[in-house]
Amino acid sequence: MSIVYIISAPSGSGKSTLVNELFKMVRNLDFSISYTTRPPRGSEQNGKEYFFVSREEFEAMIVADEFLEHATVFGNYYGTARRFLREAENRSNDLLLDIDVQGASKIKEKIPEAVSIFILPPDRDKLEWRLRTRGLDSEQVIRRRLDTARREIENYSKYDYILVNNLLEQSADELKDIVLAERLRRNRGVELSEEEKRLVRTAQACQLEEARERVQPILASFNPQMVKGT
Ligand code: ADP
Ligand code: 5GP
Repeated sequence: MSIVYIISAPSGSGKSTLVNELFKMVRNLDFSISYTTRPPRGSEQNGKEYFFVSREEFEAMIVADEFLEHATVFGNYYGTARRFLREAENRSNDLLLDIDVQGASKIKEKIPEAVSIFILPPDRDKLEWRLRTRGLDSEQVIRRRLDTARREIENYSKYDYILVNNLLEQSADELKDIVLAERLRRNRGVELSEEEKRLVRTAQACQLEEARERVQPILASFNPQMVKGT
């Protein structure tokens, strides 16, 4: 059985950057290329970051039940095609889904053993800075993304792992350790090497219960009213 990893993050947290780094380090992992009706951004290519389709094409795929889940994000359709999971399973690979909070909860309903990871920026100011320096969005879009981030972040406690993307290299290593630790967990009975024990400890430190305290100041930077445990 393939392991399904779900990664969500407020836009601009560094998710695409971290996922790119992850794929340089981990083998036997496929990326689920979503379908979307939004137009390509920057250097995005059809079939690489997304399959860019019209609303009519997307709606025809919904009718044909081709999606494992689909949602409307920022006014556009986004969907995960069932065929990616089938193909990953045929290759004995695991599958990584880069999807939003709504998609993550739909996948968790269908595949409860899926591993979900939420990426957080170090704080609101750094998120705003990253969105601006990325240079892809207008002022209006940046404001909307920051507003959406505040709401999305409130869902952090629905995820299995929380990763704070502060220093890129360290965060990429933590993400890799989570992925590898979950593979090890499914291979019970095999004695772990010292390196494997180390990565299991790193992954454990990112588990929701361990991370709760650490994320409080980040949540407060987005919404001072967000109190512990909510
Ligand atoms: P997302 O996919 O979450 O929308 P990106 O990967 O596009 O975000 O990253 C947003 C911007 O932040 C990019 O310009 C990226 O280079 C930068 N970035 C990503 N991770 C870090 C980090 N750890 N430290 C500083 N800048 C980062
Ligand atoms: P962007 O337009 O910035 O690439 O993505 C916007 C949001 O849509 C991100 O939160 C991203 O994770 C999410 N997204 C991308 N693909 C899918 C998908 O197939 N399903 C769902 N539910 N969300 C997706």
